[in-house]
Amino acid sequence: MVHDPVPSLLARATEQLEAEFGALPAFEIGVDTGAIAKVLQATAHRLGDNYPYFHPLYAGQMLKPPHPVARAAYALAMTVNPNNHARDGGRASSEMEIEAVHEIAGMFGWTDYLGHLTSSGTLANLEALWVAGQLAPGRRIVGSEQAHYTHKRISAVLKLEYASIPADNRGRMSVEALETELRKSDVGMVVVTLGTTATGAIDPLDEVLALRERYGFRVHVDGAYGGYFRLIPEALEEPARRAYAAMGEADSIVIDPHKHGLQPYGCGCVLFRDPAVGRFYRHESPYTYFTSKQLHVHPSEHKSLAGDPVHLGEISLECSRAGAAAVALWATQRLLPLSPGGEFARGLARGRAAALELDRRLRQDRRFEPLAAGEPELDIVVWKLNAETKELASGLAQRAFVACAARDLHLALVELPVAWFQPVGGKAGEVEAGMVTCLRSVLMKPEHEAWLDRIWDRLSAACVDVLGE
Ligand SMILES: *Cc1c(COP(=O)(O)O)cnc(C)c1O
Repeated sequence: MVHDPVPSLLARATEQLEAEFGALPAFEIGVDTGAIAKVLQATAHRLGDNYPYFHPLYAGQMLKPPHPVARAAYALAMTVNPNNHARDGGRASSEMEIEAVHEIAGMFGWTDYLGHLTSSGTLANLEALWVAGQLAPGRRIVGSEQAHYTHKRISAVLKLEYASIPADNRGRMSVEALETELRKSDVGMVVVTLGTTATGAIDPLDEVLALRERYGFRVHVDGAYGGYFRLIPEALEEPARRAYAAMGEADSIVIDPHKHGLQPYGCGCVLFRDPAVGRFYRHESPYTYFTSKQLHVHPSEHKSLAGDPVHLGEISLECSRAGAAAVALWATQRLLPLSPGGEFARGLARGRAAALELDRRLRQDRRFEPLAAGEPELDIVVWKLNAETKELASGLAQRAFVACAARDLHLALVELPVAWFQPVGGKAGEVEAGMVTCLRSVLMKPEHEAWLDRIWDRLSAACVDVLGE
């Protein structure tokens, strides 16, 4: 592992934080540091039983290491352990959440909106689907068959009917199939995924919005994984660029700072274009809001953006939430503002460049078959192994996955329709049915670009082990 700058940065900031509370009488925390040190050694040993997610040779699942500033800020906040449910439990961190969410909303051109952090993308999506159900009870939710699996489950939890819309051979929602569902006039909300989890496909948001005019339904953008690519339209293909350009027209948006936003887990975000949906969250709480409603003590409360509630728990389905997640996000966005052309955006573009380069090499190597319809839309690459049958190709992918891991290159596996790998424009009826196991690589670390040669060499050598060529 490389030298970790976090402990020394954290030590200095911790002194500052202690000084902030320096006026209080000192007290001892009664702990046995020797015993703790021993337990921590055992803990570190246990943690060794992981894939090395932080390393550029980890190029498998959607796992991106948090930025050092996020790790340090999160750990610093642990001294206070704020709870962003209410100002009573997280005064400073509630302000920081409001500011950080304001910057995220700004990416989509929203200034007057309702939004907050959640503990995950799933919870954030749940809130968006819940609001849709409140606005149009009894109406269905629809999303593409490549939408995240939790939409169907969330709908079941909310007792909303859910229907899957077929996807095309790139994993994008079929607008024709969507319109067929819309003609039944009982669709309350369409979930549009900008960046599907399996392949990074971009649903045609602009076309779905055009249908909204005609059929009247809510449009929810699930950008849990892909939302931040809004910052680099110049690096995307035209259809994806049009979809991202339309994001501000959606009714609600979910984006996960803990996916592409360099945050530790526990950080999703939901945004609603119409702040009036806040009325659905209204509730009475006999205990949590008491103190700070009585005592508006802190001047920062008066700096609140217009229309914000005093307590984030008043606009959130969750009660306790990690204030530390907001602190880490706020600090990260201070260092790396969410601006097109900025360092954060350049980091996204480097992962995307790595994906395009890997895809280019795969296309030139007859051992591999990438998606027939074209190159990756974001930074996820999927490809099957070339073989006579899909069963053989699936077996080879599994063995290649293991052979790569033996060379410290960690990829992922994914089941995809075998038709996606067959030549486009083939005669109808010739398309093979069924699924095939493929290799999948999420190249979401900026370092993946510089490491691509080493990734390729390992992949290539591992495939020699498996294929004998
Ligand atoms: C990861 C993901 C989710 C779920 O988010 P969690 O933070 O894992 O709960 C939802 N939608 C998409 C498109 C995702 O990629």
